[in-house]
Amino acid sequence: MNTHNHHDVLIIGSGAAGLTLALSLANQAKVAVLSKGALNEGSTWFAQGGIAAVLDNQDSVEAHVADTLDAGAGLCHEDSVRFTVERSKAAIEWLIEQGVEFTKQQGGDDYHLTQEGGHSHRRIIHSADATGKAVHSTLIERIIAHPNIDVFEHHIAVDLITEPDHVSRQLRVSGAYTYNRDTECVSVFQAKSVVMATGGASKVYLYSSNPDSACGDGIAMAWRAGCRIANMEFNQFHPTCLYHPKAGSFLVTEALRGEGALLKLPSGERFMDKFDERGELAPRDIVARAIDHEMKRLGSDCLFLDISHKPEAFITEHFPTVKARCLEFGIDITRDAIPVVPAAHYTCGGVVVNQNGQTDLQNLYAIGETSFTGLHGANRMASNSLLECIVYAKSAAEHIASSLSSIPTPSAAPAWDASRVTDSDEDVVISHNWDEIRRFMWDYVGIVRTHKRLERATHRIKLLQKEILEYYTNHKVSNDLIELRNLALVAELIIRSASQRKESRGLHYSLDYPKQAAVARDTILVPTNFAAQAIFVHN
Ligand SMILES: Cc1cc2nc3c(=O)[nH]c(=O)nc-3n(C[C@H](O)[C@H](O)[C@H](O)COP(=O)(O)OP(=O)(O)OC[C@H]3O[C@@H](n4cnc5c(N)ncnc54)[C@H](O)[C@@H]3O)c2cc1C
Repeated sequence: MNTHNHHDVLIIGSGAAGLTLALSLANQAKVAVLSKGALNEGSTWFAQGGIAAVLDNQDSVEAHVADTLDAGAGLCHEDSVRFTVERSKAAIEWLIEQGVEFTKQQGGDDYHLTQEGGHSHRRIIHSADATGKAVHSTLIERIIAHPNIDVFEHHIAVDLITEPDHVSRQLRVSGAYTYNRDTECVSVFQAKSVVMATGGASKVYLYSSNPDSACGDGIAMAWRAGCRIANMEFNQFHPTCLYHPKAGSFLVTEALRGEGALLKLPSGERFMDKFDERGELAPRDIVARAIDHEMKRLGSDCLFLDISHKPEAFITEHFPTVKARCLEFGIDITRDAIPVVPAAHYTCGGVVVNQNGQTDLQNLYAIGETSFTGLHGANRMASNSLLECIVYAKSAAEHIASSLSSIPTPSAAPAWDASRVTDSDEDVVISHNWDEIRRFMWDYVGIVRTHKRLERATHRIKLLQKEILEYYTNHKVSNDLIELRNLALVAELIIRSASQRKESRGLHYSLDYPKQAAVARDTILVPTNFAAQAIFVHN
């Protein structure tokens, strides 16, 4: 059955970015929010640390800007950094107005602020160690209660719908084809403005801290529709994720290393001191690189993080969550070393947007992890990402609200045509290709890259994309097929971006080009159907 849904604004994604936008617009517009799983199945729910903002009198916008620029290794766009940081206090105030309960100082009314790597001041506001859950559950409650917001769970957007704009003589986006996971049908969603808030693409790697939704769908859809994509080579890896076939994505907090946990080879030997004089306390990217190096050298599936030399009472008091989670898999961290691998954690690149969240296509916006605003440069500073979600959702909302009345109602889009495809005959094609992409991306385009590895990856992705396209053209779509097609495209964009960068900078490290180039440049990929439409940003 093919249904048509009409709204003023279609938001694809229900994380911090999508929900903030929905709530900011819903008093003026009829809004649809799509979520490919349940509403809380994005990265937002899992965020632990907190949100960076200038909230303390001792802190300043200048200091937050300087720290972010420093972390970004010369590639941040200072205007975007300033734009974000200047709005950080208002973003937090808005979250508090929505009802988010942040942790307060013991016995006081002031909020407790923590400090994380790269930040020169205490500026991370948080809700204990589960900030994402506190923010997300509050926003979810609010959108469910709002009469102007229609929520569609288990709906995965497949592709954008475009139509000609007769005034500008350019294409404008007017909706999306959407597959309903429950009914297995594709419907048409149309709206005057469409917003991509689909999160990152870290699932393209074998090991990831992200939930299953992070396939880069929005980046792939925007590229296919004709938008530029930038800086996809900058993938942030968290050094220690629990390695167990049934553990899913569980981060082992850096605080363990802070309290003396040691990284060890399978033989029990320490190795970090060979890589950095700070040993286990070296910055995240150095630790991740060292683990990757040793795993590749030894052909080992994982390495080990050991805190068992500390008193049992200390471990239990400080790390109850890690202890409990590991025990579920038979690992007693008071006695055993924890098997760990680094894991893809954050996608710094994405769909090129300006400060209103506008993409290259008329009426199409991108916000949150799926977008490229220029804030993160070559390395995201901890806790700046949720901030970016809120700030850009708010600025996109303002821009959409001011332009809706001048946008014509979209013309009726053609229904999805499934008349020439057959049922999938062999789902093993999908599962095999899915695994193969994630494995070779890990081995060849992961934490440490070389020219040869990237060449191998280029060769592999071309073959796989041919096979996936052939399968997609001839068979009915399914959730896994939609995600696989996007994952393959995002993998291609990462490989192309990494191959173009002939230097090591921030999160991109190449053994063939270990030095940083004198001039910092973004890697901007331009699709063949790119029509210079909304002319503004970052050239
Ligand atoms: C374990 C972990 C800890 C983190 N800790 C922090 C932290 O402390 N501080 C911080 O600032 N950042 C942190 N981050 C990063 C931060 O959580 C994310 O960058 C941020 O939540 C992204 O929000 P988002 O709204 O862009 O996307 P998400 O929250 O990932 O939401 C994406 C949404 O898009 C939907 N979606 C995707 N594709 C489709 C499609 N095709 N059709 C329909 N819907 C779709 C998904 O269902 C989901 O609803 C952490 C991330 C992880 C994984």
